[in-house]
Parts: sequence; C-alpha cells; structure tokens
Amino acid sequence: MSVEEHESGDEPGHHHERVDAAVEAHDDWARRRRKGIPTDERLLVVACMDERIPVEAALGIDLGDAQIYRNAGGKVTDDVIRSAALTTQFFDTEEIIVVNHTDCGMMSASDDAVVEGLAAAAAGSLDDVALDPSLPELSIGDASVADWVRMTDDIDEACAAQVRYLDEHPLVDATVHGYVYEVESGHLRHPGGRIAEEISTRAE
Ligand SMILES: [Zn+2]
Repeated sequence: MSVEEHESGDEPGHHHERVDAAVEAHDDWARRRRKGIPTDERLLVVACMDERIPVEAALGIDLGDAQIYRNAGGKVTDDVIRSAALTTQFFDTEEIIVVNHTDCGMMSASDDAVVEGLAAAAAGSLDDVALDPSLPELSIGDASVADWVRMTDDIDEACAAQVRYLDEHPLVDATVHGYVYEVESGHLRHPGGRIAEEISTRAE
C-alpha cells in the first residue's frame, strides 16, 4: 500500500483523538443537564399513557431527541404546565407536540361514572381526597374531582384544546402542534382531519 492510499483511507490524526471525542460525547450525555445541553430535537412530547401508542416510532424520534410526558388522556394538567414551563424556560426546549389517540380510555366512561368509581375507592366521600399529594403546597384545593378527571367526548376537539392550553400559557414558550394517533391504522392525523370518515361519506 502506498503512503497516499493509506492516508486517503483513514481519518487524519492520532487514534487518541477519536477516543477523546468518544469520552467527551459520553460526558456530554451523562451531564447534559448540568452542561445546559438541550434534547437533540429541542422537543417535549405530551402523550396519552395508552400502551398502544409507540410515541417514538410514530414521531420518528430516538432516545435523546425529546422529553416525553405521558398521562391518562394526554391532557395538559397543572403538572404538564409545570414541566413545559421548566423545559421551555430553562432547558432550551423550543417545540411541543401533543399526541392524543382514537379509542382513548378517557372516552370510555362518563364523568359521573368515573366520579362514582373514585368515590367507591375512597370509601365514600371525595371531599377530603388530596388531588396533588406530591405537591401539597401547590394543592389545587377546592377544585372538584369531577373537573379533575374530566373525560373526553371528541378526541380531535380535545387535542386541539390541549394545543391551545400550552400555546396560550404565559409560562410556556414554544411552538405547539398536536396530532391524533389512530390505533386502528397506526397513522397520525391532524386534529379534525378524519380522512377515512371523509372519503367514506358522500360530499354534500
Ligand atoms: Zn388514551
């Protein structure tokens, strides 16, 4: 092998430089919060906790790309606001994506049925149940349990509303978009974009 062939086939420099780069990359990964390194896509995802939503695959993201907050219904609760405020104000997150989905458990019962079930679990009255035991100093106090667990009638409407709550919140500084994941097809759609229903219904 000639000297030219050898040099053109290899990266220049000593091997320790590549090792150093790998060590530095590992240090960045392990201490990225302390070093002020944002997620790779500067993205927060708020999604329903439903086990049928492959959040990363559906959005085409990998480990390290985004922070992901999942709860029942993919709802913008007070703690979603807290998390979104922190990451957009201090972790350089610039974008939020909300993922709701068809056949959501939050559409499977009425508010009354849920309140009845929770009251039974609390052995009678819900009045003394703490709604946010992890943050007692931030308790939402006299808010009703029915409001707290509010169910969903229309997932497209609900998705658009979650986007609006985040978009309009003064502590959240980000570009916000929402999608409905169709568990039947495995595809995302824009809220209000029910293609299957449209193409199977005669135009007026
Ligand atoms: Zn759900």
